[in-house]
Amino acid sequence: MRVLVYKRHKTSCPHVDDPAYRRCGCAVWLQYNRDGKQTRQSAKTRSWEMAGQRAHKLEQQFLDKELGHTVPGAPTTVPDAITLFLDSKRGGRMSPNTLYKYGLTLSRLQAFCDAEGIFHVKDITLSGLTTWRAKWPFESPLAMRNNQARVKSFFKYCYNAGLIPANPTAQLSGIQVKVDEASRVRPFEPKEYQKILATVAKTGLQPRNGARVKACMQLQRWSGLSLVDAVCLSKDALVQDGKSFRVKIQRRKTGVHVNNVIPTWLGKELLKVKNGNRQFIFISGEATPKGAVSTFDKMYRQVFQAAGIDGTSHMLRHTFSVELLKAGVDIRKVSKALGHSSVTITERYYAKWNKAQQDILDGDLASAWKP
Ligand SMILES: [Zn+2]
Repeated sequence: MRVLVYKRHKTSCPHVDDPAYRRCGCAVWLQYNRDGKQTRQSAKTRSWEMAGQRAHKLEQQFLDKELGHTVPGAPTTVPDAITLFLDSKRGGRMSPNTLYKYGLTLSRLQAFCDAEGIFHVKDITLSGLTTWRAKWPFESPLAMRNNQARVKSFFKYCYNAGLIPANPTAQLSGIQVKVDEASRVRPFEPKEYQKILATVAKTGLQPRNGARVKACMQLQRWSGLSLVDAVCLSKDALVQDGKSFRVKIQRRKTGVHVNNVIPTWLGKELLKVKNGNRQFIFISGEATPKGAVSTFDKMYRQVFQAAGIDGTSHMLRHTFSVELLKAGVDIRKVSKALGHSSVTITERYYAKWNKAQQDILDGDLASAWKP
């Protein structure tokens, strides 16, 4: 393996285009490929000769490792590794605040190693780190995750610098920061929904646009389509069979197929707003699908504002799902109607309303006990 020495010139250096130019004061860096991964690291010197020696030493270390020899010299102690790491960071563009956090994280690592009698950085194991992590004093998952990122960065450095033969954090499981999706789901109350529809005519939209917006909103409310899928509904996707209508689409976002029956009155209303466009119901003339979606989004906002309701187009989709759940429709069916790729996603969003279904089940069970 070859370790290349090169200059990382400052943008103000006249030799900025020549990484092989040695006689300026810019930082010298090392570059090498290991296991198919390119690594670049500071040589921690401005002298080309010193950097060359370090590169050579690195090459030797890697070669010894490949040949199964022990790395010459004593293994690196934990405090030495921490000092090397922090020095390398001080040379970079890291803010003092971030450096301080690294210092704090690593002093905790040091305390852990002292308590466990770990002297060399190579003796820190994945299971040791997992035990240590369980004792971290953080309240929030985000703080945990940031701390873990700093720990990983330290061990990555140790590995790349040849201080340890393997990176114990490579297999350290990630820390999940749970975003409470359910808390962000809000459907429209039936009264709000009625008010929104009634407001369309009072917003100053051209009557033709008003009719399109109203039909599109109702389509979302009764089919569960997202704004993109609703606005981009093609004529073929509105299937009429006698008096019954359905929308049959492939979701633009996920590619999942949706095939939902819609009320007859809505099907008729959709036929009425059709315009000259050969392919689409809502997209007119020269508009691109993307442009049309943004136009509808703007018109929607105009309506929500005029109605004095803090709304988004997606709340119409939520209204569709929640009203189904409230009516006792099984969540697996709701999931299918929404075109979710798995019912787990549906449950994550709508667990709160699925409880209503649980209550119905509870009621059914309780009434079955009655003689
Ligand atoms: Zn330079």
